[in-house]
Amino acid sequence: MDAEQLRECGHRMVDFVAVTNPSRPSPSSAKCRHPGYLKELLPDTAPSKPDTLEALFYDIREKIVPGVTHWQSPNYFAYYPSNSSTAGFLGEMLSAAFNIVGFSWITSPAATELEVIVLDWFAKMLRLPSQFLSTALGGGVIQGTASEAVLVVLLAARDRTLRKHGKTSLEKLVVYASDQTHSALQKACQIAGIFPENVRLVKADCDKNYAVAPLAISDAIATDLSSGLIPFFICATVGTTSSSAVDPLPELGQIAKANNMWLHIDAAYAGSACICPEYRHYLNGVEEADSFNMNAHKWFLTNFDCSLLWVKASEENSVFDFKDWQIPLGRCFRSLKLWMVLRLYGVDNLQSHIRKHIELAKHFEQLVISDSRFEVVTPRTFSLVCLRLVPLASDQDNGRKLNYDLMDAANSSGKIFISHTILSGKFVLRFAVGAPLTEEQHINAAWKILQDLATKQLLGSP
Ligand code: PLP
Repeated sequence: MDAEQLRECGHRMVDFVAVTNPSRPSPSSAKCRHPGYLKELLPDTAPSKPDTLEALFYDIREKIVPGVTHWQSPNYFAYYPSNSSTAGFLGEMLSAAFNIVGFSWITSPAATELEVIVLDWFAKMLRLPSQFLSTALGGGVIQGTASEAVLVVLLAARDRTLRKHGKTSLEKLVVYASDQTHSALQKACQIAGIFPENVRLVKADCDKNYAVAPLAISDAIATDLSSGLIPFFICATVGTTSSSAVDPLPELGQIAKANNMWLHIDAAYAGSACICPEYRHYLNGVEEADSFNMNAHKWFLTNFDCSLLWVKASEENSVFDFKDWQIPLGRCFRSLKLWMVLRLYGVDNLQSHIRKHIELAKHFEQLVISDSRFEVVTPRTFSLVCLRLVPLASDQDNGRKLNYDLMDAANSSGKIFISHTILSGKFVLRFAVGAPLTEEQHINAAWKILQDLATKQLLGSP
């Protein structure tokens, strides 16, 4: 890498990013929304001779950017947020510069050591029990995603159980979670060889904002035990993907303990909120968990990917070789970006960042409540509002088309981007606040778009 060339090209790229990123509308441009759009615009073989940066910038501007969904746009309200920030961006840059492959301590001591330090800092911010700290037998590790995190702990729990019951017991192992649990769990079960008929996705309690009822889990366990099966793993969620439900951790912890099962907590999205003292109670019960996961790359200003996983029991070892805590061998210096976020913003500002989004979501919720054509479908807990246009009693499909069309029209406007879920058969719009640049004016503008489109739709105008 030539230093002068890097400096020149790097400055130009930073200038480009600084101008491009915040100014984009949120959804990709309509002309790119068909599969294969890019194939029509780019050659089908790589250039044999080098291209210029000018030529590349042209293609990026004209062909790539229009096909990007702009997750950092202040008008992005879909799925869950995926925050970037100056600190996260700079950390990613530094990690790219070092470009280490830190699978073991010796391959880059600073990478392993910083990861241990930063995950201990974070565990203290979340007030996780001391068994999750590296100073005890546990510790934290950065995974790519929450999906990898649940797979890794499921494999650990499976092997622990098989050591006890014998390798031939695999067909008897049973996993429990609610039907609101992220599909990553089912994928992990499939990879881990858990028999599909032994994955119990217990129906969540719609009267408890779709949290799971502990009794439903303990009943399922009792039935399985009486059939000679081996219950071994419970996955609880703090902030489910559909509606931000919080499963009852203390009760699930007791059930896991009584049955010698592994309890994993998936707080991929809502874990970030728990750095604020007023939201920390959502983690009460984490004391009984064997593992806990949250995505710093969702709502914590740390560029994707950066998923934090803590486990209670690890090998007693003065040197961590993180290759043994994850699926791949190689790993990059991910802790740099999280360390920079923590250092450059500080806990107070990070708490304000979370509080601001929750306040904006509360504001949006009030706007929805004030318009009787709409309803808030489940009570808001964090920064997600689940809403829908109330269908007429005579509506044949219970508002499915009505709300799908509203979402489609909103996203096709090119001005905002929202997503949907299905709750008790209802088609529900999800409005998740969390883009770093979102302010009250963006919430008000988004609400006006939804209201105006609803008016058009209900009046049947084109
Ligand atoms: N768990 C929950 C609760 C989620 O909301 C999500 C994604 O939104 C995931 C897991 C999967 O996250 P990842 O993409 O990090 O695997």
